[in-house]
Amino acid sequence: MTKALIIGGGIAGPVTAVALQRAGIESVVYEAYRANTGTAGAFLTVAVNGLDALRALDLHRPVMDMGFSTRTIDLVSGTGKRLGVIPIGGVLPDGTTTHTIKRADLYRVLHEATQSRGIEVQHGKRLVEAEVLANGGVTACFEDGTRATGDLLIGADGIHSRTRRIIDPAAPDPRHLGLGNVGGFTRTAAVSMAPGAYVMTFGKRAFFGYVVHPSGETWWFANPPSAPTMRRRDLVAPTSDQWKARLIDLFADDAGPSVEIIRSTPELVGGTDQYDLPRVPRWYRGSMIIIGDAAHAASPSSGQGASMAIEDALVLAKCLRDLSEPAAAFTAFERLRRPRVERVVAFGARSSSNKAPGSVGRVIRDLLAPFFLKLIARQSQDWLFGYHVEWDDRVRLGERTR
Ligand SMILES: Cc1cc2nc3c(=O)[nH]c(=O)nc-3n(C[C@H](O)[C@H](O)[C@H](O)COP(=O)(O)OP(=O)(O)OC[C@H]3O[C@@H](n4cnc5c(N)ncnc54)[C@H](O)[C@@H]3O)c2cc1C
Repeated sequence: MTKALIIGGGIAGPVTAVALQRAGIESVVYEAYRANTGTAGAFLTVAVNGLDALRALDLHRPVMDMGFSTRTIDLVSGTGKRLGVIPIGGVLPDGTTTHTIKRADLYRVLHEATQSRGIEVQHGKRLVEAEVLANGGVTACFEDGTRATGDLLIGADGIHSRTRRIIDPAAPDPRHLGLGNVGGFTRTAAVSMAPGAYVMTFGKRAFFGYVVHPSGETWWFANPPSAPTMRRRDLVAPTSDQWKARLIDLFADDAGPSVEIIRSTPELVGGTDQYDLPRVPRWYRGSMIIIGDAAHAASPSSGQGASMAIEDALVLAKCLRDLSEPAAAFTAFERLRRPRVERVVAFGARSSSNKAPGSVGRVIRDLLAPFFLKLIARQSQDWLFGYHVEWDDRVRLGERTR
């Protein structure tokens, strides 16, 4: 039986392991962290296309059960002017809608899925090197001095992937997007709206979003401007209180409840920078391949990175199931996935750049936004949200994505 070494136990890793098992391929997941952490980013949306892909593996229900339905985004300017409402993917024929879930809960659900299916996940295994063997197999070397050998190595190790560099030493670094991520969870009388509809504000100096959970808790995030100097590793990360003070200052002149939401939050989460990865020329070499953020990270503003990782997992498992040689499977995988993921990354970059225009750009954006939002509402978003992977259809060499 073919054995795959999966590097990374985030989203793409466990979903790939489950999909490979269904395809008759054994795998072990190697995760760098000692235990599931998954707090970075606090929460995320899993879009209808991601949930649709999870359905093929019977994983959509547990993921949806841990989250809540979030169907629309109400866009507002810093002055409090309503710019328009955009849907997040609509409703699938079976009633499925985009869901928002805490990152830690999503990671936990996916890990439970591997455990209940008897798939081994090893923690504390940080990949440092890998070599392709003369027989076509591959050996992974971990920071703790241990090794593992298999027939394939699948790098699902995220945006700062080590596997990407092992496959291609000239691989590009992620692109800094000039924005940060910070957020939290709170209960405040300043917010009194129904659950499930995001409100996002193009503030005068930073971007702010929040949504109410069915329990009444408010989940929020902010994207403050972030300069490259702010991400120097030798700088001490700001404390939660320092973040609060900075954000309260950034949103002080904006309409809406952002300042109260921030003030009432016990502990802020995150404080990371935003990156994307527009084009990685080489996704595979020999029996090693990268998927998910390691191969094509979309800006968080796309709301699609997790769903892309899930779709990748399903498509790669199908390719390995239907094409006997890894080289053929990897070629088919790239042909099926590259056009779509690069379109999504470009879409995310556009959304991200709207969040931090200068003062002139801000005025123009707020003036034109209602017009563009009406245009978006008329345009079909089917290319993004309507993507469906039919598990039972066989992959053929030369097949292209739609
Ligand atoms: C603030 C923020 C908000 C976001 N919001 C959304 C959203 O709303 N919707 C959405 O779809 N996407 C969102 N994203 C993007 C989404 O989180 C990613 O696209 C998604 O997590 C990618 O999944 P992945 O499995 O490829 O990588 P990851 O989830 O990053 O998992 C990679 C795993 O590999 C492990 N790892 C790394 N290096 C090694 C190594 N050398 N050896 C072993 N293991 C290693 C890591 O510890 C990690 O567990 C957001 C991202 C951020 C930062």
